Amino acid sequence: MQFFDTHAHIGLICDDPIEQIRIIQKAKHAGVNRIISINNSLHDFKKEYTVLKSQKEIYHAVGVGPSEVMAPGADWIKTIEESVKLPNVVAIGETGLDYLKQYGDKKSQIELFITQLELAQKFNLPVIIHNRDAGKDIFEILKDRIPSKGAVFHCYSENASYAKSCLDAGFDVYFSFAGNLTYRNARNLHETVLNIPLDRILIETESPFMIPAEYREKKRTMPAYLPATAKFLAEMLEMDLEKLSAQLWKNSCKIFGLAEE
Ligand SMILES: [Zn+2]
Repeated sequence: MQFFDTHAHIGLICDDPIEQIRIIQKAKHAGVNRIISINNSLHDFKKEYTVLKSQKEIYHAVGVGPSEVMAPGADWIKTIEESVKLPNVVAIGETGLDYLKQYGDKKSQIELFITQLELAQKFNLPVIIHNRDAGKDIFEILKDRIPSKGAVFHCYSENASYAKSCLDAGFDVYFSFAGNLTYRNARNLHETVLNIPLDRILIETESPFMIPAEYREKKRTMPAYLPATAKFLAEMLEMDLEKLSAQLWKNSCKIFGLAEE
């Protein structure tokens, strides 16, 4: 049985490269054989890419998150254009809109997001979307601009009807659930997983955030804890864990354009 962590900030779990490699080994022991390494800034991307590029379990997304809207970096578009050509860079992200934290202003966030959707289209890559309290604007933007290789709503936070609207609109979109799926009060998420097609579901740890209920005494989560979210999902869907993990693996490989083996 194997698992695919579609979203982990390895650099935020810890800064020490040796410890980071240990975290990847630990994940592997838990059956988490592939991880998408995520950063919010291009500075962090460069740092993580250098440390992690030798790890065959790791794939990379490159992009500028909404938190960096005020300072994406000089020549940031050129940096992304160069970075997407590096081995194992499989997505643009994370990018999106965050109206909860109100970074910069809405207009600048939207511009930054749209430019990255265009880059995803230009380089034939899927996009990883960060959405906090901005579902309506994201939906409107995606209507005209969803990249042809699709999109992932990472750490899905909307409800079942939002997911349904995205699918009804014909978006090639996947919904990725983090450790908060396992919280008893996460009714919106529970209702969502029960009402969307299985081939649109992904799981992630959003390490070091979103600690699964099973590990609630820990200070942070890490890719090795991903199976806890898978187990919860299997119970919820009344599915055999092995069957579910195979399906999630398949979905993850499909959206990120990877061979299944
Ligand atoms: Zn993230």
